[in-house]
Amino acid sequence: MVKKLTPEDFWRKIDRKSEAECWPWLGPTHAGYGRLEYRGKKYFAHRLAYILTRGVLPENLVIDHLCSNKRCCNPAHFDWVSDRLNIARGTTSKKWGKRRFRNVRLGEESCRWRVVLRSGKVAVNGGTFDHEEVAAMQADVLAARLFPGFRAFNAPEMG
Ligand SMILES: [Zn+2]
Repeated sequence: MVKKLTPEDFWRKIDRKSEAECWPWLGPTHAGYGRLEYRGKKYFAHRLAYILTRGVLPENLVIDHLCSNKRCCNPAHFDWVSDRLNIARGTTSKKWGKRRFRNVRLGEESCRWRVVLRSGKVAVNGGTFDHEEVAAMQADVLAARLFPGFRAFNAPEMG
């Protein structure tokens, strides 16, 4: 007889950190997503995390991980999108380590966009941001201020 899982059992399989950080699922995965059986039903861990914290799942919508971390079960990192939009978003380079804008990358731990400017041997930390586009703008503003003649801008009119 398999013991019925309680919500506490479920949360114990997730490395819950602060709101800002990713909460990785520690159990088995399927296609990169946490997968488990909970009270006779199969779930993706992030979806069950949402159900247990917010009550219900919106219909016809899928969870888009704003942090691009499939194992992440932190509901603060979820956004709800239609299936189609999720696929469209997935084709952008919003993946760990990859970048869509110059001087902007996704922080590996924090799920936030980090601005780092380099000019020669100088590297300047421009801070972290929730939104990639905001980080890209900040990167441009900072570069214009710090490095006259800097070439790697995101906005075409600044380049
Ligand atoms: Zn996350």
